[in-house]
Amino acid sequence: MSDYIEKDELEKEEKKSEQNDDYEDICYICHRTESTAGKMVHLPNNICVCSDCMQRTFDTMNNSSIDYESMMKNMPYMPNISMINLSDLGNMNPNLKPNSKKVKKKKAKEAKKPVLDIKSIPAPHKIKASLDEYVVGQEQAKKVISVAVYNHYKRVATDTMDDIEIEKSNMLMIGPTGSGKTFLVKTLARLLDVPLAITDATSLTEAGYIGDDIESVVSKLLAAADNDVEKAERGIIFIDEIDKIAKKKNTNQRDVSGESVQQGMLKLLEGSDVEVPVGANSKNAMVPLTTVNTRNILFICGGAFPDLEGIIKERLNKAASIGFKADLKDKYDNDPNLLSKVTVEDVRKFGMIPEFLGRLPILYTLDALSKDMLVKVLNEPKNAILKQYQKLLELDEVQLKFDDDALEAIAEKALEKKTGARALRAIIEEFMLDIMYEIPKDDNIGTVTITRDYIEGKGAPRIEMRSTEKIKENVSELKK
Ligand code: ADP
Repeated sequence: MSDYIEKDELEKEEKKSEQNDDYEDICYICHRTESTAGKMVHLPNNICVCSDCMQRTFDTMNNSSIDYESMMKNMPYMPNISMINLSDLGNMNPNLKPNSKKVKKKKAKEAKKPVLDIKSIPAPHKIKASLDEYVVGQEQAKKVISVAVYNHYKRVATDTMDDIEIEKSNMLMIGPTGSGKTFLVKTLARLLDVPLAITDATSLTEAGYIGDDIESVVSKLLAAADNDVEKAERGIIFIDEIDKIAKKKNTNQRDVSGESVQQGMLKLLEGSDVEVPVGANSKNAMVPLTTVNTRNILFICGGAFPDLEGIIKERLNKAASIGFKADLKDKYDNDPNLLSKVTVEDVRKFGMIPEFLGRLPILYTLDALSKDMLVKVLNEPKNAILKQYQKLLELDEVQLKFDDDALEAIAEKALEKKTGARALRAIIEEFMLDIMYEIPKDDNIGTVTITRDYIEGKGAPRIEMRSTEKIKENVSELKK
């Protein structure tokens, strides 16, 4: 009989602990959960304290000038003072049951299989094909990036660092704003399922000055990798606006945000051990440090490099005006592909130091988006912005269509703004607001077609009602 009772109780206990498994403990002092603060120390009465707080408490006790030992000895003679009994803490507030100090555990995300697996990296043409689904045009850039990424991750996977050392495939990407530099890198990191950190070079300064110091880019990457050092060491760091740290011309002052930043980045680009704070942006006494090696981190630097065309033109003109085959001086004035003729020498002239350029062996350019490309950006990529609106309205059983003319009108408007594909979203959001507001009002609307006139503010979109039969169907369904 007693055996049965014991068994019953055991089962109850088991059930209880199973239920508790769905919950996370919370530190009684700092209120962080187990997933953020790490393993908890369990004290009587279901009180948990994280190891940080525990350590801090011990430190304070050790460092403070209070002599606990003599205090304990004198305790009996001190009236009305007694040591706090931790087990009483839980009973102080009757509403605050220790069990309520738990939060539900987040369900572990299902491990998704990446489109491109870096452990058995697919051939460059496959990487490019995946990029093609999202990024319009920029054929040359996609090709270069696919080969570079292929070589980089092959080098990482095989770790062949014997006598023939394969050089790192860091890249320098030059292209006007809104041509898809950031988008290309983001897409690549998503397809490869590697952590990505994006930083603006303008915010970086030499260590010790106001601004982020250079190593902060690595701590950003570590954060993107959920503090998993191994994962971070295979990640990608994208440094945007790299042209803003060009050497300043004619200056006597110390160049803390230009040339010195380039100097400071040299070691990082090449591969070195960096001490970075875990879970914080700056080093201070309270955060633990960890070491990240940047040898296998792929660095991609990007920038618009305004005025670079002038430098290229000057070089080309100089070469063309020498000798018998001298050309006209204005031959390159209207060359739309001038930027693609860039050489390392041009970028050096722009103000990047040779050591820095030497560590970014892959140089390529992105084209400014033409009208045709902008139209494609609107409706061709897998997650194209128009497809997103169509899907939204589909949920209301309304079909959204765009006249070809209308798409061109949107592209023309975007071209005027001279910010590449960035302008598209703002333009579309402006005219879609009314549609998204008005359409759900009327259940009978079946199709909305956006016309050029509507984009240009001269007319209204074409609206077709649902066929009467469909309406009848809906009504009979409602009656049911
Ligand atoms: P930047 O070159 O200034 O970094 P972005 O990459 O931020 O430009 O581009 C802004 C937005 O424009 C992206 O989020 C993306 O949606 C769109 N875009 C730009 N270029 C392309 C492209 N070639 N293909 C598809 N979308 C693009």
